[in-house]
Amino acid sequence: MAEKLKAGIVGATGMVGQRFVALLTDHPWFDVVTVAASPRSAGKTYAEAVDGRWVMPTPIPGATAKLVVKDASNIEDVAGGVDLIFCAVDMPKDETRLLEERYAMAETPVVSNNSAHRWTPDVPMVLPEINPHHLAAIEMQRRRLGVKRGFITVKPNCSIQSYVPALHPLREFGVEKLFVCTYQAISGAGKTFKDWPEMVDNVIPYIGGEEEKSEKEPLKVWGTVEGDGIMNADGPAITSQCIRVPVTDGHLAAVFVSFARKPSKERILELWRAFEGEPQKKGLPSAPRPFLTYFTEENRPQTRLDRDAGDCAPAAGGSSGHRAAGMGITIGRLREDRLLDYRFVCLSHNTIRGAAGGAVLTAELLKEEGYLTRK
Ligand code: NAP
Repeated sequence: MAEKLKAGIVGATGMVGQRFVALLTDHPWFDVVTVAASPRSAGKTYAEAVDGRWVMPTPIPGATAKLVVKDASNIEDVAGGVDLIFCAVDMPKDETRLLEERYAMAETPVVSNNSAHRWTPDVPMVLPEINPHHLAAIEMQRRRLGVKRGFITVKPNCSIQSYVPALHPLREFGVEKLFVCTYQAISGAGKTFKDWPEMVDNVIPYIGGEEEKSEKEPLKVWGTVEGDGIMNADGPAITSQCIRVPVTDGHLAAVFVSFARKPSKERILELWRAFEGEPQKKGLPSAPRPFLTYFTEENRPQTRLDRDAGDCAPAAGGSSGHRAAGMGITIGRLREDRLLDYRFVCLSHNTIRGAAGGAVLTAELLKEEGYLTRK
């Protein structure tokens, strides 16, 4: 078996960072050899740094527990021993932008969950099943940065990862208008009920910046690569409301949509059933099969029951079928709407598909496409 690529996790002690640690345990292609975070954690073992705040359902993997956390701002020390970096930090945007660029300039590919570079035109914002062709912008970015091997790719915001996948196979009918309300888990704010008791028995109708991201990011994901980067799509028109609800994990979206040419309900269901992206076709280790699951039951998908949807062929990359848990998108309640054409609900796991898992799948695609090599 080929030697694994050495991976570093920057922001490894946080909510998304912990998810990376859990998901990369026994990964067939990537080995976590470096963890980094703020100076508050630097110098401690990983086990000490997350003591009292490890929130994953599985124990801290033994090998990672013993790693000494590095200071993320010490670029050479962190980048020196790794082939790529997964990044999820809670820092001011301009500092994050600079940090990620410094890693790329140190010839280290960065697969990021942060929003800092989402609007840099030559930085692909990747949903691997939807816009794998955007990876072509990496060469433009490398030319701008003057590097051979380094680059940055980003994940879109977690809120869009349930409804963009559901709408993507329907774009042939001309998606014109989209109203969406998202019901988002508290882990999306890096929180648990223990450290956010105000969320128990409560709903907060405001998530800073989220509505703007929900309305604009799909346009870059559906954009085209041209000139020096990615040009946004000019539609659909999207309006959203994003609401924080008292669940641990899982973002649910209620969608209302109109088309230039209204498809039949049967055709929509057929397209959802049949949709496969490059990750499924290539059998990537974390690719869920199916990607989209439609429930006929009226009361599904439900956050707690369905957020862990996703299974993959046990043979894919030598991984177990369990690797893709939380990577599938579930959909339900498709019906005609009185104002627009249709309405439905959809669900994705925000820290798996919407964050760390989506980034791991992006890295698998990058490796398969030849963008990641050993240093
Ligand atoms: P979090 O739980 O607050 O973790 C933040 C991480 O950033 C910690 O590892 C922290 O290290 C590190 N950090 C803070 N200041 C730093 C500094 N000055 N230098 C280096 N590291 C620093 O946040 P999170 O929820 O994991 O989110 C991380 C990123 O992912 C954010 O950009 C967020 O928007 C994005 N994201 C989150 C989700 C989600 O569902 N949670 C989904 C998609 C994207 P210490 O422990 O040492 O302080």
